[in-house]
Amino acid sequence: MKKQWIQIALALLLAGIVGSPSLAVDATMPTTTATPVVAKKVTYKPEDKARYEVLRQQNQGQLVPKERFITTTAQDIVLTFGGLTRRESVDDMLSHLAAMNAKGTFFVTELELRKHADTVREILRRGHEIGLGLRTGTEGDFYETCAQIERLQKNMNRLFGVKPTIARQVFGKETPEVNEACSAMRIQLLGQTVNTVQTKDKEAKTAEDIYAHLFGKAVTSMGRGQIIYTRLDFLDNPVLTGEILEWIKRNKIDNIAYRGLNDTPETNIENDSAYRLTNVSEVLQDVQHRWQYPVPIERVPEILRPENHPKKLEGQDLKNLLAKRYIGAPTVNAVDRIQGFTISEIKRLDKTGFIKGVKDNTIFLTFDDWSNDASINHLLYVLRKHHVPATFFIITWNVKNNPNLLRAIAESGQIIGSHTNKHYPMVVQDNTYGGNLIPMEPKEYAEDVQKAYAELVNVVGDVKVNEKPMLTRFIRPPTLAISKSGLQSIFEAGYTYVVSGFESTDDYAVPSMQSLAGGLNHGIYDENGNVRKGSIIIMHMTDHAKYTAETLDELLTINEQRLDNDPKKFKVGCLEDYLTEEYSQDMKDKKNTLVDSSTEEQQVREKLERDQLVHSKN
Ligand SMILES: [Zn+2]
Repeated sequence: MKKQWIQIALALLLAGIVGSPSLAVDATMPTTTATPVVAKKVTYKPEDKARYEVLRQQNQGQLVPKERFITTTAQDIVLTFGGLTRRESVDDMLSHLAAMNAKGTFFVTELELRKHADTVREILRRGHEIGLGLRTGTEGDFYETCAQIERLQKNMNRLFGVKPTIARQVFGKETPEVNEACSAMRIQLLGQTVNTVQTKDKEAKTAEDIYAHLFGKAVTSMGRGQIIYTRLDFLDNPVLTGEILEWIKRNKIDNIAYRGLNDTPETNIENDSAYRLTNVSEVLQDVQHRWQYPVPIERVPEILRPENHPKKLEGQDLKNLLAKRYIGAPTVNAVDRIQGFTISEIKRLDKTGFIKGVKDNTIFLTFDDWSNDASINHLLYVLRKHHVPATFFIITWNVKNNPNLLRAIAESGQIIGSHTNKHYPMVVQDNTYGGNLIPMEPKEYAEDVQKAYAELVNVVGDVKVNEKPMLTRFIRPPTLAISKSGLQSIFEAGYTYVVSGFESTDDYAVPSMQSLAGGLNHGIYDENGNVRKGSIIIMHMTDHAKYTAETLDELLTINEQRLDNDPKKFKVGCLEDYLTEEYSQDMKDKKNTLVDSSTEEQQVREKLERDQLVHSKN
């Protein structure tokens, strides 16, 4: 019954299309647009066009995006190629790929398929794959794109027995019609993260001339799922592209693997930190590591959805919220990085940086900010190697360029918290007047912290490891500075705990491993050598924190070698297990000393006077 109805509808649809006036004008006649129209060469038959039109209707206007990277958490970098007209360049690249133990995807155009079938055969023989190289002409027309996809698939199947469903637009105008045609034909459209061949390099003599401007300064490494595209027949020097790729591998990919404390992928079979160079299909077919960005909200546990603020935070007095939910820092006090509180309020704020009520030798590791795969992957490997949990507090504004990395952190069982969207501190020290200033309008700040959480949900909202969600509603204030209005915004945005910490290692600035080890040991042990139970240690995931992974590796190795009854043996806890709804920072904990109250009161008075001065000058 139903099938019959569909057939009738289809027939009507076809009849309508064939008879439609738009068909008559489309191919050869001027359209109504003002631009002068050159007659287009139509390479498909009218009956094919009718078929494509049906597909177009069924597709309902959907567009496939041109992917700059593949959403995956696999440790894979994708190699793609185009421009196969110069055999010498292709052969040279094939030997480079063999030397690098890499696989690639070569996009082949119709012309190349006709004129260079032997080259294509050699590419396949060497274990690489081919994709559809689209040459869409000046119009980027829907039907022409469909026809080209069909012909390429048919001829590739006839010649080599393969029928690719991945495409790259190698030439021609990029229009939404190309994306629509790929969607209608169930084709995935690839772009690139890095284009190794740029117009200005055409006459470059050596690969050195090109390295300098291939990557932005901040890009210290490639990332999971990222795509490198190399056009092989553009540079005057036919064998430069292979050298460029080797350079990228050495400088932006090999450095992602952890090599510390004599532990490298080459010396230790269990060191699985290296990334692989592979082709598009290998990555697409690895469904275990694939994911959808942004994460569909229905996959996010209700309690973590941005709009579902925890009920208990609503209408609560800030004073009570802070008493329970603010874990401070010893260095953040009345005169430094606090704004908007009265003296008695400041006195009540936590300054320990400890998780309260920790009975055993448990401490907590945390990492702030955001970075490239190289530095973060080193940390992930060291934590994995020692089976240790940590919390990553993420600056979110740049995550959209590499969401796979954030997702990989969570999938490896590490907890995710927010470090705001743009890393604006709630308060900055004003050096002119010696007072504290709020650098952002409260409304703007509120938006920033909301945005940060929403982006975390987009990337890791559905990640669970051992049934436990990896996303939390914890936030670490940038520079640990706090203001009353900022904290108010944070709780209104649904964050449950504000987590500063006891030891701020300046790991992004230390001169050596030894110096960082000193800071870490101070964070873990008191002056009598006992473990500071509940201590939160603050480190960073940025490239500048270049000793962090290795120092941690050493510290955890030494700790593992201690006997279980050694009082110096510490455990690493997971903040999420402690900061539950039952928790309160208000718990009495005699071990943690507070600042002497009379001295502090005097400091606060002086500070408030200065603040007032600043205020009146503004
Ligand atoms: Zn920070």
